[in-house]
Amino acid sequence: MNPNFLQTPLVYLKGVGPNRAETLKVELGLETFGDLLQLYPNRYLDKTQYYKIGQLKDSGADVQILGKIVHLKTVEQKRGKRLVASFVDDTGQMDLVWFRSHKWIRENIKLNEPYVVFGRVNKYGSIFSMPHPEMELLKVHQAGLKISMQPIYPSTEKLSNSGITNKVISKLIQQLFIETKADFDETLSQSLLEELKLISRADALLNIHFPKSQELLARAQFRLKFEELFFVQMQLLNKKAIRKHKIKGLPFDQVGEKFNFFFTNHLPFELTNAQKRVIKEIRNDMGSSAQMNRLLQGDVGSGKTIVALMCMLLAIDNDYQACLMAPTEILANQHYNGLKELLADMDITVAILTGSVKKSARRTIHEQLESGELNILVGTHAVLEDKVQFKNLGLAVIDEQHRFGVAQRSKLWRKNSLPPHILVMTATPIPRTLAMSLYGDLDISVIDELPPGRKAIKTVHRYDANRLKVFRFIKDEIKKGRQVYVVYPLIQESEAMDYKDLMDGYESIAREFPLPDFQISIVHGQMKPQDKDYEMERFVKGETQIMVATTVIEVGVNVPNASVMIIESAERFGLSQLHQLRGRVGRGAEQSFCILMTSHKLSSDAKTRLETMVRTNDGFDIAEVDLKLRGPGDLLGTQQSGLLNLKIADIVKDNQILKSARYYAMQLLKVDPKLEKNEHLVIRKAYATLVKDKVIWGYIS
Ligand code: ADP
Ligand code: MG
Repeated sequence: MNPNFLQTPLVYLKGVGPNRAETLKVELGLETFGDLLQLYPNRYLDKTQYYKIGQLKDSGADVQILGKIVHLKTVEQKRGKRLVASFVDDTGQMDLVWFRSHKWIRENIKLNEPYVVFGRVNKYGSIFSMPHPEMELLKVHQAGLKISMQPIYPSTEKLSNSGITNKVISKLIQQLFIETKADFDETLSQSLLEELKLISRADALLNIHFPKSQELLARAQFRLKFEELFFVQMQLLNKKAIRKHKIKGLPFDQVGEKFNFFFTNHLPFELTNAQKRVIKEIRNDMGSSAQMNRLLQGDVGSGKTIVALMCMLLAIDNDYQACLMAPTEILANQHYNGLKELLADMDITVAILTGSVKKSARRTIHEQLESGELNILVGTHAVLEDKVQFKNLGLAVIDEQHRFGVAQRSKLWRKNSLPPHILVMTATPIPRTLAMSLYGDLDISVIDELPPGRKAIKTVHRYDANRLKVFRFIKDEIKKGRQVYVVYPLIQESEAMDYKDLMDGYESIAREFPLPDFQISIVHGQMKPQDKDYEMERFVKGETQIMVATTVIEVGVNVPNASVMIIESAERFGLSQLHQLRGRVGRGAEQSFCILMTSHKLSSDAKTRLETMVRTNDGFDIAEVDLKLRGPGDLLGTQQSGLLNLKIADIVKDNQILKSARYYAMQLLKVDPKLEKNEHLVIRKAYATLVKDKVIWGYIS
């Protein structure tokens, strides 16, 4: 088939006028024949099977049952009435229920005649009930039985209100198959089809819309999911290959004096095996002649900073400069002070550049960067300004990646004639499943081990009613010389109320922990940055014992003496946020605690989140649970990845298929990187069309 045919605007399909075309575009984003073809059903009603009432489960599933109505009655309820029919088969009895159209039902229903009813069953007490069932007399049902599995398409209220019902969509797709003669081009090679026992694309499309059986439906789904994920992986792997081959990097070919000197004389502790491995991976990367673009994942407290420093030393040993960027001024300062301390009496120059650095000092920094006098620049976004030019930037490290956008990262690339090596560090563990598809074109290093001697943080869940006990516990910890965080949620929508909660909380804590014995800091988003920094500094220096804050403290702050994290209204936080917050404690030698405070009203998801936090400290474990609870849509970075635009595959549920798609894409590119072989031409053609139409999105660079 001429592929352009699928580009035909929907308005040219029989049954679609300008009005319908507009509604389909606005509501479902469908513009062309091809778009409609790829509007896959959300689910199917299986009308091939009949359930017995005695077999019903409380699963909320749609089922089809064969039986008779033996009795009808009207039941009064608070608002209006409901009509209840007793429906029986040879295994039991259930209710059919109507809240509207009573008159019509009463007049048309036939008692004691075989009916086929279809709908969702719920269980109330011991009795099953089906509200507003579809129903047909058995003899009518048998006469009209054509397709056995009825597809249910995505819909919106507007769509059905404007008459574009599920039936209409089904009709339109039928029309599409008629007009295209269902002659859809294959996109996968013969050998893939054979090896994976895939059905052809044309068969798959037919059976996804008009399944002939459960089995063919399953094969159609598998084939289409595989194909979709396969082409996403092709795109990712291609991007990576292009970067490796075309984008020349700065070869750091020596491990020199500074690295070795630091390693032998300044390293304050033995590196963990994970740290050693990661440094080696990075060193190999930077030693090759390709540019490095690497994501370093490591849970909070896993020791990413020292890894960054040692990589920066490698750059300096090769006569390049390095920079380290952090998302906030507080963090940049902490990094700066940390580096100064670690590098004490080594001949390495470090400067800090943030928004609050004075003009004159700033000018000096600019000059020293350009002359090459300065080896390491630590800073915030200020580093990205055009005025900041390096003599020869070799490595840029970005801490806490998610606060920096893609555009900002690409600015770094342009700071040199050849792009510097880039190391992005994140403490937000990305589940392996997701990382593979999301960052498939980045290299990934993982620090999966905490430094030895760390005591696992003890996490407990307490109800608000136990607050006094919690206060007593805090008092004891403070007496031992520890510091405490108390964190309140601040969520945009309910900002005013959240703010009040925070202030109320602050007041009750101030009452319980009075001056002069106790000093309390408070930090929230409505404060001026200077005031925030001032309060933060007091806590960092140990002048205050309690830090009452909103989530502004989430990222990276390091106060090793703080050993208690109290999270108020913990049920309102997401898992990754809870984990990030907990990571603020457990940084020193002392036993640390995290107390999750909640009310008694908890949703089942909230319960799962709290239980997960109490059960484990492992960020990857937590990230996997998070992914299952929320789906990939809400997770970091997915917005940019195009994975949300998957039409049929689900990267969580279809993870096995994803792995296989990645494997076969790799194999293919290995034997035929340019897809020049005859047998691969179909793939090449399909790929070219996809890329041209930007179906697959640009991924992060
Ligand atoms: P993060 O990965 O969260 O950025 P940091 O780099 O801030 O973690 O390290 C957390 C703490 O652990 C720091 O105080 C650091 O000095 C210490 N640390 C890092 N690596 C080791 C190690 N191998 N052995 C002992 N302590 C370490
Ligand atoms: Mg850090």
